Amino acid sequence: MSGQINAFEMAQKQFDGVAKQLNLDPQISEALRWPMREFSFRIPVRMDDGSLRVFQGFRVQHNDARGPNKGGIRFHPSETFDTVRALATWMTWKCAVADIPLGGGKGGVIVDSASLSTVEKERLCRGWVQNMWRNIGPRQDVPAPDVGTTPQMMGWMMDEYSKLVGQYTPGVFTGKPLGGGGSEGRTEATGYGVIYTVREAMKHLGMDSTKSVAALQGFGNVSQYAAIGFVEMLGGKVACVSCWDRHDRTSYTYSHKNGIDPRFLLSITDQYGTIDKEKAKAAGYIIEDGDAWITKEADVLIPAALEGQVNADSVKKIHSRVKIVAEGANGPTTPEADDFFKANKIFNIPDFLCNAGGVTTSYFEQVQNDMNFYWSKQEVLEKLDAKMTSAFHGVLDMSAKEGVYMRDAAYMVAIDRVVKAMQLRGWV
Ligand code: NAD
Repeated sequence: MSGQINAFEMAQKQFDGVAKQLNLDPQISEALRWPMREFSFRIPVRMDDGSLRVFQGFRVQHNDARGPNKGGIRFHPSETFDTVRALATWMTWKCAVADIPLGGGKGGVIVDSASLSTVEKERLCRGWVQNMWRNIGPRQDVPAPDVGTTPQMMGWMMDEYSKLVGQYTPGVFTGKPLGGGGSEGRTEATGYGVIYTVREAMKHLGMDSTKSVAALQGFGNVSQYAAIGFVEMLGGKVACVSCWDRHDRTSYTYSHKNGIDPRFLLSITDQYGTIDKEKAKAAGYIIEDGDAWITKEADVLIPAALEGQVNADSVKKIHSRVKIVAEGANGPTTPEADDFFKANKIFNIPDFLCNAGGVTTSYFEQVQNDMNFYWSKQEVLEKLDAKMTSAFHGVLDMSAKEGVYMRDAAYMVAIDRVVKAMQLRGWV
């Protein structure tokens, strides 16, 4: 990785660019370039064989001018403080662009989750909370699951926090299991949120969604519900989805001559997002190389797997029919691909707007926990649609007003809102 810019430097660079365009006071910029608070701690865990292992834990609270910090906890072997800092910064902008009253945070532990037994994982989760409980809470900082962490882990963490503070406090963690303080609609939230923004983009561009075709990368949580939403809510056709096959460690694209049936594919996909090749083949699916998704004749591309997938090389393979790129994944587009979109007038829905449905529903979960009153799935999804639609138009209006690309407009909306909150609170 030497010579490559690290994630936090990239987050600062993106911010600097927009701060310049916004003519932001240099001292305010300085306050926003860095997290407000950072925690680094060691977590001793008794292993099943009686030995002791010490893990490195982090939590970064980037900015809480608009409300409690919000963001996931990642358990990953190559986690670094700078990755966590970058992700915390991006959460500040994501919550602000979605206009939910939360700030940005992120946490992590350097560990390969899969190497731990269930009981060891539970001890590690409880250890994380024992280090952080004084600095998290429904009014301070509300973590959630992320890479390597699960709803069950949030359940243990919430339980540990509740024990330490002496009262049941479900609103301290979101992404909890249903029946354990979780919210209806969370599973669908990010994918459906992507589709609400695609729907608005199509209206803006005067496209008929029922005559539209989408090509998706990935078939995990985001892509599954984006594909279902594209077919069921918009009446469009999904040409293909792709996935990483964890058995032969190769990626594949799945298409069907009539368009894919996302609910059928979901029924033959495992919990890690790997589609059963044999069952797909038997149902008439065409299986191609993993990169084929980007070449399909489609109006809408939805990269919803990994970062950096739409890049200088792959962007050249995009079909001339493509009008919208909706970023379901975090960071799927490189700056070179952004230049290509601009040059070819391809409408971009930037990641921190497009996939904000997840954090918005996490916010709804916290609201329901605090009220101790739970909404139906329909109520959650209606509220989500209203939030996503309004967030999309806030960015679109800024883009028109300032004559800037959607990604820059999204940053402008977000930074504007955070700076305003800091000013109203008398911080700057
Ligand atoms: P997931 O783990 O459920 O699914 C990932 C999918 O991508 C799987 O189908 C996997 O097989 C596929 N994949 C992996 N490598 C691939 C490759 N090389 N080619 C093709 N497919 C590949 O993950 P997810 O929750 O759907 O998240 C996807 C992206 O969306 C990530 O960038 C994540 O950070 C982002 N995101 C997720 C949420 C959420 O609520 N789940 C919210 C915001 C952003």
